[in-house]
Amino acid sequence: MPVAFSIAVAVCVVIAFYFTFTALWRIISMVRSGQPEEIKSTLKQRIQAILVNVFGHKKTLEDRKYGFMHFWYLYGFLILGVGHLELVLYGLTRFRESYGKQAFLYRNLLPEWLTHVYEFSQDFMAMGVVIIVAVALYRRMTGMTKRLMPRSADAETILWLIGALYVSFFLFIGSETYLRMETGELAYGWHWYLPFSSAIGMLIGGPINPVAYWMHLGIFLAFAIYIPRSKHLHLLAAGPNIYFRHHGAVAKPAIIDFENSEQFGVSKVKGLSWKSILDTFACTECGRCDAVCPATLTDKPLKPMKVLHDIKMNIRGAKKLDLIGREPGAYEIEGTVHLDETWACTTCAACVEVCPVFIDSVPTSLMEIRRNLVLMEAKDYPKELNAAFKGMEVQKNPWGVGQDKREDWAAQLDVPLLADQGDREVEYLFWVGCAGATDDRSKKIQQALVRILKAANVDFAILGCEEKCTGDPARRMGNEYVYDMLARENVEMLKRKKFKKIFATCPHCFNQLKNEYKDFGANFSVQHHTELIAELLKDKRIPLDSKKQIEETITFHDPCYLGRYNNQYDAPREALIAIGAKPVEMSFNKQKSFCCGAGGGRMFMEETIGKRINLERTDQALETGATTIATGCPFCMTMMSDGVKDRDAEDNVVVKDVAEIVAEKLA
Ligand code: SF4
Ligand code: SF4
Repeated sequence: MPVAFSIAVAVCVVIAFYFTFTALWRIISMVRSGQPEEIKSTLKQRIQAILVNVFGHKKTLEDRKYGFMHFWYLYGFLILGVGHLELVLYGLTRFRESYGKQAFLYRNLLPEWLTHVYEFSQDFMAMGVVIIVAVALYRRMTGMTKRLMPRSADAETILWLIGALYVSFFLFIGSETYLRMETGELAYGWHWYLPFSSAIGMLIGGPINPVAYWMHLGIFLAFAIYIPRSKHLHLLAAGPNIYFRHHGAVAKPAIIDFENSEQFGVSKVKGLSWKSILDTFACTECGRCDAVCPATLTDKPLKPMKVLHDIKMNIRGAKKLDLIGREPGAYEIEGTVHLDETWACTTCAACVEVCPVFIDSVPTSLMEIRRNLVLMEAKDYPKELNAAFKGMEVQKNPWGVGQDKREDWAAQLDVPLLADQGDREVEYLFWVGCAGATDDRSKKIQQALVRILKAANVDFAILGCEEKCTGDPARRMGNEYVYDMLARENVEMLKRKKFKKIFATCPHCFNQLKNEYKDFGANFSVQHHTELIAELLKDKRIPLDSKKQIEETITFHDPCYLGRYNNQYDAPREALIAIGAKPVEMSFNKQKSFCCGAGGGRMFMEETIGKRINLERTDQALETGATTIATGCPFCMTMMSDGVKDRDAEDNVVVKDVAEIVAEKLA
């Protein structure tokens, strides 16, 4: 009988391992089929990421309550995994009993005290998991946590399986404990090292033990088979995804080799990078990204978690299926990312910031689809983009204002031109940006900044008509061709110039010059103007009029490309505090800031679905009771000003750049 028992266990284990490992191998092949993507991180950074974010659960614990639940799951699985190993080894070695020897059991090998530690850890963790599973099922089935809606059959199946696994654990260990009492190995009664199992054993007795063993083993093996086929694959994929996470700035789209490539962008899932594909398997479907996405929160069809799910289902199902969904309003077709989802993304990176497993590919994957629509198909993109594309291609700015007018804003201000500086190396190159050079409201920001720079005696110069759009809007809107052209021209021109540092008033230009132009060989020292102002104020180089009091209540709106993309949240606030302001914070602030709606080229697109994002953000700002909304981006300026106007709040609330607020305090 014990021999047949061991053979039956061996057959079950081999079958389960076969199905588990073939499924896992398929997943690995799918990831390997992705396009190349270089991850620039050191071994030390990778190991640290694993220690801090897998074992320490740092990012997951940012959501204290549910993060703790997940923390328990993780350690529950690790600790209880030791017990599952015993379960299998016991079954496989039970044939030894036919030869008068013992089957494998830890208690036959370990000293008594260590056996008690092991038994207690199993009992305690298992009961914890049962309770947490019950809570998790309750919150999913009752719709208590909005971000977990709609209900997921996959997620609930897993929870039922985990629940069943540990109920069967208690039936097995409980009945086994009772049998040990009957044989005299243990005294009858409750034992501290088996606090739940000994109590359950006294209740259920021993006869159920063989059935409970097979139940527990069967559920365990079924779970192992189910993992690679379910959302619980994150159990295996999240670790590698965290190991290979991007460090530093938010992931940028890959540059295209226009001379040697025939395919631009992605219409089939196999065109995505291996890391973007790994991301989809690592997703825990926790919904944290949906809870912060400005598109989701303003009723657009875009939900970052769904984008990942659809890419995953596409690659799991049929690689030949077009990834792009085009049927009007058909957002729910599994395995496709709809056009309306694709164009709704503001690339704000809010989803990237909150993800506990460092998934950062949603905006870049959507940009890859945009590239395909714009560069390959030349259709299914918002037609209003054509004017911006043409403006950038011909006049080197998205509004199509004549390039010769680029330095008009500086007339009467005696702003030095770099071209007039001869061989002299200036301290700062002032990168004005297209909005700053051509938009009437933004020109006022540049003018205020010039007043500050002159008062602080800063050595700076502008490029005037030599400056061209950085191409950021073109890149975000999928026109990598125009972006590539502008980026190369700018980098070549800048390399010929003599300056020590650059500062930019537009966070999109700032991000390009600092991070994305590196792919074209640039390596400049770049600051945002609020960083420079904060530095000058700290060094007491800006003469302030102490009689001018800050009467207004100011709230600062963090631009996404300054904050999340470049981790700069303090400088604008420090500048405001240095002049005597006491900024009040919006509910969504700093890392959790809410996009103004202009990023990702959305500045140049109509917004016809759901609530307008700029109105949502303006409402958040107005809720603070602030009389001034401060910002540090010309695009945010436009969106927030429009929002204030649409809310009829113009009489009470103004939108100003940090530079303008500081300039008002000049002596
Ligand atoms: S980048 Fe921003 S808008 Fe795009 S999916 Fe992520 S959160 Fe949503
Ligand atoms: S992408 Fe990240 S935040 Fe969004 S559901 Fe997946 S694991 Fe959660």
